[in-house]
Amino acid sequence: MNELTKHYSLLLGLDAAWEVSDVSLSLEGKRVEILVKHVGGQVPCPECDAECSIADHAPERTWRHLDTMQFETRLRARVPRANCRACGVKTTAVPWAGKHSRFTWLFEALAIEVIQACGNVKAAAGLLGLDWGSVHRIMERAVERGLERREVQTLQYVGIDEKSFGRGHSYVSLLVDLTGARVLEVAEERTQAAADRLWEALPEKQKEEIEAVAVDMWPAFANSIKTNAEQAEIVHDRFHISKHLNEAVDKVRRQEHKTLKKTGDERLTGSKQLWLFNPENIRDDRWPEFEALKDQELKTSRAWAIKEQFRWLWEYRYAGNARKFFNRWYGWAARSRLKPIIKVAKMLKRHLDNILTYFRHRITNAMSEGFNSRIQSIKSQARGFRAFENYRTRILFYCGKLNLTPTEVTH
Ligand SMILES: [Zn+2]
Repeated sequence: MNELTKHYSLLLGLDAAWEVSDVSLSLEGKRVEILVKHVGGQVPCPECDAECSIADHAPERTWRHLDTMQFETRLRARVPRANCRACGVKTTAVPWAGKHSRFTWLFEALAIEVIQACGNVKAAAGLLGLDWGSVHRIMERAVERGLERREVQTLQYVGIDEKSFGRGHSYVSLLVDLTGARVLEVAEERTQAAADRLWEALPEKQKEEIEAVAVDMWPAFANSIKTNAEQAEIVHDRFHISKHLNEAVDKVRRQEHKTLKKTGDERLTGSKQLWLFNPENIRDDRWPEFEALKDQELKTSRAWAIKEQFRWLWEYRYAGNARKFFNRWYGWAARSRLKPIIKVAKMLKRHLDNILTYFRHRITNAMSEGFNSRIQSIKSQARGFRAFENYRTRILFYCGKLNLTPTEVTH
């Protein structure tokens, strides 16, 4: 064994059953090839672990390894097949790579770090000199590993949320650990069945310990919570509530704008965003315009004022006072003669008990909304065949806080 083969034997952490038999360097191809040979006698069966004799050697395979000074480095070997009495002839495991992987553990560990640092599969593929499919398979295996290893620990607060996906009106549902700020599972669509699939990701014990779930007023989600974690309180998410109110204000504005325009009144032109912002977020230079607009006798300004008033609800400390406030607000909204506003007000009244649970738990999906930009960029990259699986893998890879490193590399 010369110095170079010794060097690689050490690097690869080969045991006595394997040795580096040749290292060839191709300067033009900028490539290093390491030929590894099995030299042991008996081999363990990959299925039952019994010591077996060698039946034969499988045809040569190649694994990509960490580059050597920018030389693409590959491992080549013929893997022995065990002649097991119980299981038949089986290809044995190799110490440097996972079962179906075309990469060594060390390469895979590096790739995972690069993919995470890039935050973008395309850029990572370029840096690693791999095609898109290979990068994706590395991520898939990493997520699978991470999910298997995920520890059963107490989950106090979770959120169920939806995200749009692909073109048109497709959605995925997300289960989020609100305390740990991580995505636990992703399911296709936003039906009750989808939410039920999310719960399947959790062991029974974990489900039983959940105190409350932040969620929109979507009945499918509420039903799924009642079925899968009946002890958990439902907390209708305040950001979804404000979204519903904003949509109602916008409906009122659109209708009124149409009517006004017929008489040549352009007061509401270009005002859409002003009504939807929280006042503290309106740009200084647009404030005078908005100030003038909101004090006029407009249906839109009335709708806006009702929406703004509702925000005070969240300032209460106790549910009892918040309920009194709600009842006063509801009276106002109900008498407003603004259909979209009345509709949302009625919906809120129907769900009031599960809105006021906020004062006990103070949870929202705002945290999972924080994943929004991340998931948005993941979404734009996931498309085509198996688009949903790609999307799920990437969300869990980037937002799951999973331990993704191959075990063989961590010790
Ligand atoms: Zn066996």
